[in-house]
Amino acid sequence: MNKAEREKWYEYHSGKEGIPVEYLKRDFEDELSGKNAMDDPLEIPDKMDVIYKYSYGQQSRFFRELRENKKIYGAKCNQCSKVYCPPRATCSFCYEPTEWVPLEGTGIITACTVQYFTTSAFIKKLPFICAYIKLDGTNFIMMTNIEAKDVSQIDVGTRVKAHFREERHGAITDVYFKPIEQE
Ligand SMILES: [Zn+2]
Repeated sequence: MNKAEREKWYEYHSGKEGIPVEYLKRDFEDELSGKNAMDDPLEIPDKMDVIYKYSYGQQSRFFRELRENKKIYGAKCNQCSKVYCPPRATCSFCYEPTEWVPLEGTGIITACTVQYFTTSAFIKKLPFICAYIKLDGTNFIMMTNIEAKDVSQIDVGTRVKAHFREERHGAITDVYFKPIEQE
């Protein structure tokens, strides 16, 4: 294909599928310039929109309790009594099924870091804190967001409490934590 034909091809496919021309140029230059052999697989641009739903499976109640009742639930092993949060349907030590137990929503930071750099999606939140916390009444740690007026007051050992977003969607981001002494 000569240059004019290629431009026409880009224009046609960009208009048809709404694919930006620079993407087409990046992915199809070898094909259009004749670099690919006649017997190579011929590739054609196309677009796919996918609407789907996914399931939280046996962890569903944890997310429903967040969304509907502003409650954090752990999962307690019937045999060894270890309490998981994030929950697990089956104990990793005994392979026994767990049962739901409500938690107070308080806990302690076991590891944390303050983020000063991020992708554009979170830039308005800077600086923000990622932390592992161990909720009271549980035996495991979970990763979460900590919100604090003064990030320098956040450290390993800081006591935190759960807060819930006004708008909740059944996602782990429905809940965040704040230091108890800064409330
Ligand atoms: Zn167990």
